[in-house]
Amino acid sequence: MQLMWVSGPTGRVRKISITLRTVSIAVGILAALLVAAGGILHFVGLRIAIEARPDLARALGGVLTQAEQDQIESAYKERLQAIQEKLQTTSDEIIQIQKLKDRFMDLATPSAVKSQVPGGNGKGGPHKLPELKVQKDVSLIDALDSSLQDMTEFKKSISEINALWEKQLTWLNSLPTGIPVKNNYSLSSGFGLRLDPFLHTMAKHEGLDFSAPVGTPILASAGGVVSRSGWDSQYGNIVEINHAEGFKTRYAHASQLLVRVGQTVKRGDMIAKVGNTGRSTGPHLHYEVIRAGTHINPANMIPKSAN
Ligand SMILES: [Zn+2]
Repeated sequence: MQLMWVSGPTGRVRKISITLRTVSIAVGILAALLVAAGGILHFVGLRIAIEARPDLARALGGVLTQAEQDQIESAYKERLQAIQEKLQTTSDEIIQIQKLKDRFMDLATPSAVKSQVPGGNGKGGPHKLPELKVQKDVSLIDALDSSLQDMTEFKKSISEINALWEKQLTWLNSLPTGIPVKNNYSLSSGFGLRLDPFLHTMAKHEGLDFSAPVGTPILASAGGVVSRSGWDSQYGNIVEINHAEGFKTRYAHASQLLVRVGQTVKRGDMIAKVGNTGRSTGPHLHYEVIRAGTHINPANMIPKSAN
């Protein structure tokens, strides 16, 4: 197709050829421009609408109204508060368990070493749980942030408490506070001055005698390392164990020795069997507790809770 027209006073003739190609290009450009303009207008329109007419914006582009947004936020806040409250309850429960643990430590620790309890004298020590706060009137972001921080601190504290308790338990297990005979025993002779059964004169008895049938298991009263296992003319078959905090225990008159020097034992391990060897008048275990070279009354080492 060809268009022709005469323009202006000079009467110039203008001509333009309209081909299919020209039309296609023009239409294409126009369409692209319209799409771009539409996109920009849509975006700008929404931005304006969100500020001014949220309800309209919602209708146009699926944007949430302030009310809906508030509703969702408050639902999340509620959940977050529930989590915080749960955390607080758990924290309170842990404090209760900690108090119980402290009482147990107090009962189970011999008075001679109470000041040496690792991480404080069995009364909680420095490992406290963080103070948790349930915040009700803060923004969701702030509440979330503070909860996450609380949880991180809480988790850290729990693992610290766990490590401390494990340390205390290991320490307690390394003190000679256990009973050295499995069962079937009676205390036949206490610690202190007594009439020597052989010399019939007053003599210091530096241990505790547990009468029991020959063969009754003798148990390590705490974890430690065997420092002696052999024969002694006085003690007969004897085992000695070195423990933490400078403690040493001695188990005498055994019929059979079951450990060797250098061996590591745990509390309750069978180390020998009751006998009547050495300077002994009948089957019994003669049990001594020594700390830094001084004999301690073994009865004072057995926790109050076991009496
Ligand atoms: Zn004795």
